Amino acid sequence: HATKKTMADHLRKYESLFTLTPQRMRMIVEAFKETLELGLEKPEQVVPMIPTYVFGWPTGKETGDFLAVDLGGTNLRVCLVTLQGEGKFEMTQTKYRLTEEQKQEDGQKLFDFCAECLKTFVTTNLEDGTLKEGDTLPLGFTFSYPCFQEKIDHGQLIRWTKGFGAPNTEGRDVAAMFRESLRKHNVPVELTALINDTTGTLIASSYVNPRTKIAVIFGTGCNAAYMEQVKDIPKIKQLGIDPDAEMAINCEWGAFDSFEHEHLPRTKYDIIIDEQSNKPGEQAFEKLISGRYLGEILRLVICELIDDGVLFLGQETYKIEIAYALDTAFLSLMESDPTEELLMIIGIFTHFFALETTLAERQFFRALAKLVGRRAARLSACGIAAIVSKMNYLEEGCAVGADGSLYNKYPGFADRVHEGLQDVFGDKGRNIVTYHAEDGSGVGSAIIAAMTKVRK
Ligand code: ADP
Repeated sequence: HATKKTMADHLRKYESLFTLTPQRMRMIVEAFKETLELGLEKPEQVVPMIPTYVFGWPTGKETGDFLAVDLGGTNLRVCLVTLQGEGKFEMTQTKYRLTEEQKQEDGQKLFDFCAECLKTFVTTNLEDGTLKEGDTLPLGFTFSYPCFQEKIDHGQLIRWTKGFGAPNTEGRDVAAMFRESLRKHNVPVELTALINDTTGTLIASSYVNPRTKIAVIFGTGCNAAYMEQVKDIPKIKQLGIDPDAEMAINCEWGAFDSFEHEHLPRTKYDIIIDEQSNKPGEQAFEKLISGRYLGEILRLVICELIDDGVLFLGQETYKIEIAYALDTAFLSLMESDPTEELLMIIGIFTHFFALETTLAERQFFRALAKLVGRRAARLSACGIAAIVSKMNYLEEGCAVGADGSLYNKYPGFADRVHEGLQDVFGDKGRNIVTYHAEDGSGVGSAIIAAMTKVRK
């Protein structure tokens, strides 16, 4: 007669599934580094290492009024940025929530909505007299999906990510589509730069903190950008750009290990998420890390234990059995619950899922959240380490501007990334320090609009 397993017994199994050893991390870093190099060498690689046509760092002296529209994932943001020079700026912004339907309906309609929001924003926020009859304001468009660009104000959408699927958009120039919507709605702006949020964050972080060499985003999706020597981007050699120039690269690293699945340790829960996603096989790295998926990973473990008769026997469990019912924000709350009884976790389960929990179960959920969150942070560290190692930033050290709700709100996420960097590099890992780059994507877009204005 076998004794009943305790929650602590169950936890041990998940510990071994979700734990990444330093040795495993170093193997991932090596493969990651090779993947980055391959992306620079040849077109159409899994990690596309997209040239952004943003040349070099800002001087910090850029000034003027700029508009930015940021289509990122969960929200649409519209910002008015006043660059004051000396690395300083002021910003006014409004957020508009995107519905799941808007993400799936016709692409032109989505851009029409962006143009309408921008129009409302301009009408409410620009003081009379800022714009004279016939004037236009430069607009930076932060569009955080992989685009193929040949100049700064064009970009062909390669594929939607982060749950977007608007038809008639993949393969088309999204800058031109947005311009069409702006014209239709008569918005007094000129779209001068199409950029990715990571590139924006890179430029904005460097404007504020010149030690910044890399930018990373951990939000709905996960991505990174850094500054590369043009001579080290063999795939654009034919363009004849000055080999000594520098250009920002949008890595689109969320795609690392897609399709082949050779390098990342995926659990069966990760595989279920992938198979049930709207883009199976794609964004393999992102699916282990980003805010869109962490809650779902935990939920799938819970569902498995429900099916095995371990959890919630005799209770109605349909609410927690709905896909994506458990947001990553709940993991943050679980991990930060300060009470011994784990009252926050009681609240989450009763309020959102109508489920009663025992203390042992709540401790288990918290420990599980920690495993999932820690794995995400350590994998993120692997990506950062790959860029650091490729660019030889370790000795001198550098700052890494980071943004996104996962980075900003998940308790201990940054500490775990730093711990991971030390597991990869030893003590020298301390030379690499991440920090929160406030409002990077919007401000960066404005700075890039300013940099392009100067170049024209
Ligand atoms: P986006 O990347 O869409 O521009 P965010 O950076 O806010 O926007 O990321 C949104 C993602 O962050 C969502 O997937 C959400 O689940 C997750 N998220 C929101 N709040 C929190 C939180 N407190 N802790 C962890 N993750 C969160």
